[in-house]
Amino acid sequence: MINVTKTFLPPQEEYQAILKRAWDTGWMTNRGVLVKELEVKLKDYLQVPNIIAMTNGTLPLQIAIKALGLTGEIITTPFSYVATTSSIIWEGCTPVFVDIHPEYLTIDETKIEAAITSKTSAILATHVFGNPCDVEVIEKIAKKHDLKIIYDAAHCFGVKYKGQSLFNYGDVSTCSFHATKLFHTGEGGALFCNSEYFETMYSKHNFGHDGPEKFQGLGINAKMSEPQAAMGLAVFNHLNEIFESRKKIVQLYQELLDDSDFKFLKIRESTEWNYHYFPVIFKTEEDLLLAKERLNKIDVFPRRYFYPSLNTIDYLNGSNTCTISESISERVLCLPLFVGLENVWVERIINQIKNDDR
Ligand SMILES: *Cc1c(COP(=O)(O)O)cnc(C)c1O
Repeated sequence: MINVTKTFLPPQEEYQAILKRAWDTGWMTNRGVLVKELEVKLKDYLQVPNIIAMTNGTLPLQIAIKALGLTGEIITTPFSYVATTSSIIWEGCTPVFVDIHPEYLTIDETKIEAAITSKTSAILATHVFGNPCDVEVIEKIAKKHDLKIIYDAAHCFGVKYKGQSLFNYGDVSTCSFHATKLFHTGEGGALFCNSEYFETMYSKHNFGHDGPEKFQGLGINAKMSEPQAAMGLAVFNHLNEIFESRKKIVQLYQELLDDSDFKFLKIRESTEWNYHYFPVIFKTEEDLLLAKERLNKIDVFPRRYFYPSLNTIDYLNGSNTCTISESISERVLCLPLFVGLENVWVERIINQIKNDDR
């Protein structure tokens, strides 16, 4: 059976050897040696000024919204994983959806200003599939209207935009290290921000502690544990292999689909991409469902990332329509992409999709 992704597992001995170091300290969480080491390694590797490792990729979004003091309306994208929207609502704010660009699939920056009201406090956008939003234009808009910017950069491990980490853009940027993501710690994530916000974010992820007997405000528990960090350190040593392998698979997909009339994700100029996902956009939802059925027949299970368009989920009780996002959501399918996916399978997958003998 082939799924859209398969968790990269380092050799078990490597994981155990790293975990043993935590074991020997008798210290399994509360920022032990492994979490600290992982943070140092990632900070250096990604070239970011600050990083806080957390227990998943959703809490950093909620902590960012809370710590930046956001209220009222937050402008966001309907084309993302549900965590982007649910975090806004969970923090008591209202998501205001701005439609996406039909090729980049990121929030359409030209439509943001029209959605700003006196209640708007921030923009929370997703660099979807690791493809950067138009960060420059968004920054200009935010400055002009005094708004904060949070990027859900869950898919952006290793992505560079204009020569630097994509995590360096916006007031806060977050990543997910979930087992389905390119770099992972089983469950896990991180928050990136500049030094101005670091203290507050750090304190909030650890119950608001300021030392063992003092608090500097409301907090929650989002700490990463030692077993999680051990997995991260073990996977970290295989990053080159992970990037290389994904790149080759994407290139093969592209080659095999060269003569097709499917549409693909357009990567923004000046981006060093990470080959995290391979979305294919069909002409109609009917075509997509047919392809999905054909793939299921050979035990291949792609995922409809991202469906449904988030502005249509029921607990919103009706939100503004986003024609492009709703249409793309109905027609986009992410094909299997993971380290170890063999070429013959890539070929079989493409054959099933192209097969037009209806
Ligand atoms: C995976 C993902 C998240 C959530 O991350 P978790 O680590 O699973 O909590 C948030 N946003 C997007 C866009 C994601 O893909």
